[in-house]
Amino acid sequence: MIPAASFSGRRVSLFGLGGSGIATARALIEGGADVLAWDDNPESVAKAAATGIATADLRGADWAKFSAFVLSPGVPLTHPKPHWTVELARGSGVEIIGDIELFCRERMLKAPISPFIAITGTNGKSTTTALTAHILKAAGRDAQMGGNIGRAVMTLDPPEPDRHYVVECSSYQIDLAPSINPTAGILLNLTPDHLDRHGTMQHYASIKERLVAGSETAIVGIDDSWCAQIAERLERAGRHVIRISKRLPLTDGYFADGSYLMEAVHGRYSRVAFLEGIGSLRGQHNAQNALAAVAACLKVGLELGEIQSGLESFPGLAHRMEQVGRKDHVLFINDSKATNADAAAPALSSFARIYWIAGGLPKEGGIEPLRGFFPRIAKAYLIGEAAPAFSATLGEAVPYEISGTLAAAVEHASHDAALDDSGEAVVLLSPACASFDQFKNFEVRGEAFRQAAYAIEGVKPIGGTR
Ligand code: ADP
Repeated sequence: MIPAASFSGRRVSLFGLGGSGIATARALIEGGADVLAWDDNPESVAKAAATGIATADLRGADWAKFSAFVLSPGVPLTHPKPHWTVELARGSGVEIIGDIELFCRERMLKAPISPFIAITGTNGKSTTTALTAHILKAAGRDAQMGGNIGRAVMTLDPPEPDRHYVVECSSYQIDLAPSINPTAGILLNLTPDHLDRHGTMQHYASIKERLVAGSETAIVGIDDSWCAQIAERLERAGRHVIRISKRLPLTDGYFADGSYLMEAVHGRYSRVAFLEGIGSLRGQHNAQNALAAVAACLKVGLELGEIQSGLESFPGLAHRMEQVGRKDHVLFINDSKATNADAAAPALSSFARIYWIAGGLPKEGGIEPLRGFFPRIAKAYLIGEAAPAFSATLGEAVPYEISGTLAAAVEHASHDAALDDSGEAVVLLSPACASFDQFKNFEVRGEAFRQAAYAIEGVKPIGGTR
């Protein structure tokens, strides 16, 4: 745990007592702060109180006495409207911060030179965070990973000069971290998302921009116009910017050329790494993630050889184009995290002969946006409530069956794929739907896919990445 000494001897209010809220309250108490915490959910309040955290309804508190108000990132700061605690804090002029801000202050107090890599973007945050931490660890560095992935940031080990922090930041967390100042800040990409919580795309982009604007080195994916403009703005303001592109050769920066990752310096190119044969990093989207991780690892002093071997041993993240098993030429891929058409597109674009398991609780727009990938789909196996709508979209373009359940779909798809004699055939769960009609969540759906694959005779689990 990182004791939050920056508020030692001062009163701090805190709202939101989920896992990270409780961890943050404990870190503040450990650092010597006098914390008063609350949540709208009585069960969470009771749980926190049972661990010794002082709780009280903050409506009745004397806000003038608080030095800061720590808000959980899940609670609305601005949109659709500020939470009632936010109004009270603002009314009394109390600063509103989150756990990443506490971490940044602690790092500045204890070990400002400790390498800190912060990652944001609309898509690919978790993969890039896990990959960066993995490469650092594989190279023998002390790398702590947390934030919006895995452990709450204040539960990581305390800052020391040689300790590396790799922290995934959601836009909500950045919004609550006014002094965020990573050694290397990564902004992968920007597409409309969570606009219910951020109002406009402009506002959403401006929050994400703050992470790279505060960075010693800003690593920016410039494949969308929002990020390209941000890179230009930062450079004009005199910041150190490293551009990355998954599809365009750059004059300066890092870009993907087939499976090679290239460095460009004033128009001169050199190869820095390659992704050929690395199963956990298939697809153009993963080239973007890998470029960002490589740029960040170079920034903190890793050698090219260390980076390449880290890329090659990256196991990937569960449920994101995860290779779960193989039987002869049939590969089983679990992409259960793809809960809408946009998220399913990278997987569909990464394979050539696909036996596609799709369906669940349908999202607006269905699978129409995926029409361009239909030629890659040998057959579709439709499950859940979306099956009738999806079958109507597939129409004559793609052979399909309505399998109903995931178990039946895996069985039928693997049978058909085994008969395919045109090379590698992929049984792909990339449902383009939420899971809630048949499963508790996407993780449970992905596990069910894995078990159904292993239930087929001869399917061997894939360990490692190749
Ligand atoms: P996040 O943490 O931002 O939600 P993840 O790394 O968990 O992102 O990946 C979630 C899904 O987003 C993946 O299954 C893939 O479909 C897609 N994805 C991953 N990286 C990228 C990227 N760089 N660009 C676009 N889509 C991506």
